[in-house]
Amino acid sequence: VKRNPGEDEFHQAVREVLESLGPVVAKHPDYADAGVIARLCEPERQVIFRVPWMDDSGRAQFNRGFRVQFNSSLGPYKGGIRFHPSVYLGIVKFLGFEQIFKNSLTGLPIGGGKGGSDFDPKGKSDAEIMRFCQSFMTELSRHVGEYTDVPAGDIGVGGREIGYMFGQYKRITNRYESGVFTGKGLAWGGSQVRTEATGYGTVFFVNEMLRTRGDSLDGKRVVVSGSGNVAIYAMEKVHQLGGTVVACSDSDGYVVDEAGIDLDLVKEIKQGRRGRLSEYAESRGANHRTGGSIWDVPCDIALPCATQNELNARDAATLAGHGCAIVAEGANMPSTPEAVRVFRESGIRFAPGKAANAGGVATSALEMQQNASRDSWSFEHTERRLQDIMSGIHDRCLTTADEYGMPGDYVAGANIAGFTKVADAMLALGLV
Ligand code: NDP
Repeated sequence: VKRNPGEDEFHQAVREVLESLGPVVAKHPDYADAGVIARLCEPERQVIFRVPWMDDSGRAQFNRGFRVQFNSSLGPYKGGIRFHPSVYLGIVKFLGFEQIFKNSLTGLPIGGGKGGSDFDPKGKSDAEIMRFCQSFMTELSRHVGEYTDVPAGDIGVGGREIGYMFGQYKRITNRYESGVFTGKGLAWGGSQVRTEATGYGTVFFVNEMLRTRGDSLDGKRVVVSGSGNVAIYAMEKVHQLGGTVVACSDSDGYVVDEAGIDLDLVKEIKQGRRGRLSEYAESRGANHRTGGSIWDVPCDIALPCATQNELNARDAATLAGHGCAIVAEGANMPSTPEAVRVFRESGIRFAPGKAANAGGVATSALEMQQNASRDSWSFEHTERRLQDIMSGIHDRCLTTADEYGMPGDYVAGANIAGFTKVADAMLALGLV
């Protein structure tokens, strides 16, 4: 804390992982002796830079850009870029730290990193977004590359932004280096299923949790927070597998639609016109609430898919009171540590983000594979690979939790399995 003052979210993420590692260090004292754990908490490299850009009225503006290259023991740094006014070093470091273990859990050769800016894309014109992305990339291009660091999208960064950044990278370097970015459009090196992957993957993970108990999503009542990339495709897969999503949200409030959320309408509003969910309520005559919490809506399964610390202890207690059986995190660290304690005490089965939402980055790694072999796979093939990867992560969590005497504990399983692979690689590579 003294070494990284004011980085609350980063401290929270580190504490969450370290709390799981007691039994690992007891079994393998060499990790602590070689200083692996302390070294893991220090990024290999952090870049902070000014991003100047011109708004539509001709006024000069600037924002702060970040890239934290946390750990490259398993492969090139890999992690998204977030544009949101709340972005500062503590957020980028928490996300980068989480990414190390998540990427390790996928079983694919990718290290951990994350980036972003405090730029707010809301209300900006297309031209402003393009100028900002080009300026951001002008600096970032010095630090990324197919074998070095491969960014992707996150909050506020989708296909449009990735296109502008990739275009600028191509122009600056004079290289069509497809593997430098993932989340690209299908016509220019992107992969089928990447857009859907995080949301679909989260639901595949939930399906595995249910399957181990002889249950399925059929007939389940589900609440999903957010209405962005992750939330939309989580809702889509829930509906495909027979569940019903009855509520979703954006940063202004949430809608409840007992008939089941009309996903085509959400897509049209959020992806088509970049509008607000209040417009959904107007079109459908559904209930739009601006006060209270989306977690007040009774459900069997809760999928927080918006942002960090959006589900607190009170929400967790409400979910437990309503008989919610499973919480799986589509977002990164959406549940506060106190909420996780309530899940544990009340018997809610809880899948942490680094396991449940790893399908996005896993499919990014599949995009890198396709770029490297100049190939493109079908939707069906890629979705099958994603499903296999999620089921592999699920099994790895449970097997590891069993091995360390904590059966059914997905948090311990994910943290320990993610950690040991990286720690072993760090030991093998020497003091670098
Ligand atoms: P999007 O920008 O597409 O969507 C974010 C959604 O969350 C929007 O509905 C947004 O509402 C809402 N939201 C954002 N910030 C807040 C806030 N402070 N309070 C309330 N609501 C908020 O982002 P993604 O769907 O890509 O990302 C969502 C989460 O999933 C993040 O935690 C991200 O790190 C994580 N994630 C994303 C992956 C990906 O592949 N995209 C991969 C793995 C994890 P509004 O429309 O009002 O802004």
